[in-house]
Amino acid sequence: MTETTRGAGRRETVGRFAPSPSGRMHLGNVFCALGAWLAARSAGGRVILRQEDLDPQRCRPEYARQLEEDLKWLGLDWDEGGFDAGGPHGPYRQSARGEVYQSCFDALRSRGLCYPCFCSRGELHAAGAPHRSDGVPVYDGRCRSLTVEQRRELLSRGRWPAWRLRVPDREVSFTDGLQGLYTENLERDCGDFILRRSDGVWAYQLAVVADDGLMGVTQVVRGRDLLDSTPRQQALYRLLGLPEPEFFHLPLLLASDGRRLSKRDGDLDMGALRERFGTPQLLVGRLAWLMGLLDCPEPAEPRELAPLFSWERIPREDVMVPREVFYP
Ligand code: GLU
Repeated sequence: MTETTRGAGRRETVGRFAPSPSGRMHLGNVFCALGAWLAARSAGGRVILRQEDLDPQRCRPEYARQLEEDLKWLGLDWDEGGFDAGGPHGPYRQSARGEVYQSCFDALRSRGLCYPCFCSRGELHAAGAPHRSDGVPVYDGRCRSLTVEQRRELLSRGRWPAWRLRVPDREVSFTDGLQGLYTENLERDCGDFILRRSDGVWAYQLAVVADDGLMGVTQVVRGRDLLDSTPRQQALYRLLGLPEPEFFHLPLLLASDGRRLSKRDGDLDMGALRERFGTPQLLVGRLAWLMGLLDCPEPAEPRELAPLFSWERIPREDVMVPREVFYP
């Protein structure tokens, strides 16, 4: 692990952008990328770009390359990383980091902290368990206590298990740099969560912690939809003995009907936005205005905005995107 210190032992800020290349970036992704970039650059820090392409069904190399081209067009550069890049902590695409995740997983498994789960998605949804805000049922731990014989019998019937982490039944709290205090009881609110899916794909929670921890990231800036992943990630940081970054969860962008913007809003993806705005400054200025950094949506470049950035100015509540501003 690289120690990121500078001067009198103060940790240098290392921020990151960790997109999933499953399509063209949309306005919400760009908002987060700009926020993460400004937070790192305004602190004189470095930026890492990591492509989170674990899901082979959804992610494609051409999306990753397009995403990097879009970031460059916006004026959001990075010091380390990228789909094809090597470097001190490379590779920087998760699909090529299986060995890293395997060794973290082995470390947890050798301490008896995880177990195979044979439940199918259908069984879990049918179980009548309460659902988390993302629609995933809270796992009731039913496979925790399978005997060795029961596991063998399920395996012999051709069932491939997912692997879950045993979580503690106690409240854990952390202070998000923007959203404030957040408390969760992992067992009650989430249940033992998946580290590796039954099809062998590593889970986001394990991969993101292994990567941010080993890449020396000190500051995670991302959308508020991932706030409730953070206690799971912190549990993993502690169990793996990796240094924890600070967390800042940005508000989400909402359409005028209050719905969260997503990849389905094709007219707000980077292809459509680039065509409508023509220059990055027009788009970046509008995003900076939504972020509270400018008084009006005037053109701006990321590097001019860095000196204006401060967490006090960033809204906590989700931000409604005024239609007329993004459809000039
Ligand atoms: N790859 C995740 C996404 O695009 C973000 C992960 C993170 O920032 O922790 O939603």
